[in-house]
Amino acid sequence: MPSMRGFVVAVAAGLGLLLGGCTIVPLEDDRQERRRSTGDTVTPALRDVERFWTAQFGQISGGEKFTPVRGGYFPYTEADPPPACGGQEFEYQPNAFYCPPDDFIAWDAQQLIPQLEDDYGPLLVGVVMAHEYGHAIQARIGAGNEPTVVLEQQADCYAGAWMAEVLAGRSTAFKDITAAQLDDAVAGVLTLRDQPGTPALAEGAHGNAFDRIRALQDGVEEGVTTCAGYNRRNLPVTEVPFTSLEDAQTGGNLAYDQALSLLADDAQSYWQRVYPRLAGAQWADLPVQPFRAGSPPECARPDASAEGRAFYCPDGDFVAFDSTELGPALHQRIGDFALGMLMGDLFARAAQDRRGEPTRTEQGQLTVDCLAGSWTNDLLTRDRDSRVSLSPGDLDEAVQALLAFGRAGEGEGPTAFDRIAAYREGTLKGLAACTG
Ligand SMILES: [Zn+2]
Repeated sequence: MPSMRGFVVAVAAGLGLLLGGCTIVPLEDDRQERRRSTGDTVTPALRDVERFWTAQFGQISGGEKFTPVRGGYFPYTEADPPPACGGQEFEYQPNAFYCPPDDFIAWDAQQLIPQLEDDYGPLLVGVVMAHEYGHAIQARIGAGNEPTVVLEQQADCYAGAWMAEVLAGRSTAFKDITAAQLDDAVAGVLTLRDQPGTPALAEGAHGNAFDRIRALQDGVEEGVTTCAGYNRRNLPVTEVPFTSLEDAQTGGNLAYDQALSLLADDAQSYWQRVYPRLAGAQWADLPVQPFRAGSPPECARPDASAEGRAFYCPDGDFVAFDSTELGPALHQRIGDFALGMLMGDLFARAAQDRRGEPTRTEQGQLTVDCLAGSWTNDLLTRDRDSRVSLSPGDLDEAVQALLAFGRAGEGEGPTAFDRIAAYREGTLKGLAACTG
């Protein structure tokens, strides 16, 4: 059986629903209209990816010249299928894939691509094509016998390397990408999930969102040589095992009130432990005030998070958050550790402010995110018998929460893309990484 590596949409992960007002659109309506509207996105994107590889391929091929896919490009619909791949007849799925035996790329022009473009913007369509092209690159340089998770993250990394061109203004397909458009594309990547390549490698095949975003950012920051160097030994994979049967049955999610109080208590004791190291002073208990949506407690100069629905109040020295809309929405739509991200953010904001460091500048915000990550690091590395530990998917929930409430506004503050990178730094390396 030929291996087809492709994207399928995890429709349930509607994180855009939370604050961005974006919805997963029903698939049936105005297909003709949609098909027309996206025919113009994919072709220039693929040309640009080809241009990118024409320039870059030599770096990872020992100087060998790049050849574009031989088999061509195939938009398909239910009525108009792509060619067979390695002799295997096509069965319609909303997907995009690279076919190694016949060296072609195909995508669903009926549902998947129009839907992604509608929901997350054209840049995501470019990222999907660059990812699939990444698999064509693997076929060209010989990716060895690496597990699927490595190949998928390497394709994400290659897509990131191409994205760096876009961000640098060198793309022929995408111009003047704004911070908000970048964050939309990253949010879109989180809704895409790869089909496991082969059953033998199905376990952990696609990598979690936390790792996938890391791979994408690796590509943006380090370029194709770093991506080409990925292998099963050097790829950091942050899978967290389920710790108990009960955990596995509940998906590792706690009820809202229970999650909130456990997380707030844990954040409190974490900062009691580490704050003296950070600031040379004791941590005073930080009051946490839940409030009804629309009725925040008085505060002269709130240091806001989540579009003002949560904040640290420097004058009163307390944190407060909307506990009737924001909190439940994070918990239900993303999961319990989305609340952990919110608590982590608020406590880190307080820690920064108490030690006299900024939180409202771009660098200040990134330090807050790193400090929030340092608490996640503590949760990840502590003894498994403790009251709170992380379960699989928690890191993804944190990243989704950051994307939901940490999006770039109109031309101010860092992007969620950068905030995720700062959070990851703290998560992987701990407190010392945030104060350097
Ligand atoms: Zn893939």
